[in-house]
Amino acid sequence: MSETTIALVTGANKGIGYEIAAGLGARGWKVGVGARDDARREAAVEKLRADGVDAFGVPLDVTDDASVAAAAQLLEEQGGLDVLVNNAGITGGMPQEPTAVAIETMREAVEVNVFGVVRVINAMLPLLRQSASPRIVNMSSSVGSLARQSSTDDALTVGPVAAAYSPSKTYLNAVTVQYARELQDTNILINLGCPGFVATDLNGFRGVRTPEEGARIAISLATLPDDGPTGGYFEEAGAIPW
Ligand code: NDP
Repeated sequence: MSETTIALVTGANKGIGYEIAAGLGARGWKVGVGARDDARREAAVEKLRADGVDAFGVPLDVTDDASVAAAAQLLEEQGGLDVLVNNAGITGGMPQEPTAVAIETMREAVEVNVFGVVRVINAMLPLLRQSASPRIVNMSSSVGSLARQSSTDDALTVGPVAAAYSPSKTYLNAVTVQYARELQDTNILINLGCPGFVATDLNGFRGVRTPEEGARIAISLATLPDDGPTGGYFEEAGAIPW
């Protein structure tokens, strides 16, 4: 393994993922910019490098086994992997009301937001297991919280009705808990983060937080001390009820 901490951020060409890469890079870490589009990935890598980040491009479509396997190979060539941030995500398009949503929309959301994360984690685990302080951060959302979705207090109920996106994050939460259980006797800490409502392409820039603010929770979960939590679900203000 390399002396330098090496991170991979998926979906790092824009939005919150880009700012996570910038924030981890500012700590002196070497950062793999995972992105599926060549031009968007290279533009992000160049911008990060111009800001002094030791960034490198990682071609990565999280829905594609071969792409994910090639990414793991590239990370190995770059010196290994200490921190994996599964940030790539989609809403799956409209409509999202359960009475109107297309089954294909639900399938697409789960394909990227859940199966994509599982695919990437499992491909990267052999590298993470060689790290002294491995961390996995899964970018979820508080809209995946069943406690909040089913709350009768309007102030606590989050997000619009979204039968593809919200349940995909609930599913991601559930799978992450299973990873935490399986990995509990290892040094790997795996946690879920919610960035808050951030102005990005994902929501037509209607969010109220900046991508830099949204990146904070992922950065803090990526830099947890060895005695930090695992299997948790956090926003910046603290733990989110399941
Ligand atoms: P953006 O739409 O700005 O960015 C999403 C990123 O994911 C892009 O880089 C996109 O790449 C990438 N991506 C999508 N599909 C794939 C794929 N198949 N393989 C690889 N990369 C892919 O969204 P945000 O920055 O807002 O979202 C980042 C994460 O934060 C998501 O998981 C989202 O669910 C979560 N989140 C966001 C909130 C918000 O308010 N914005 C709130 C709660 C959670 P490309 O450019 O090629 O499309």
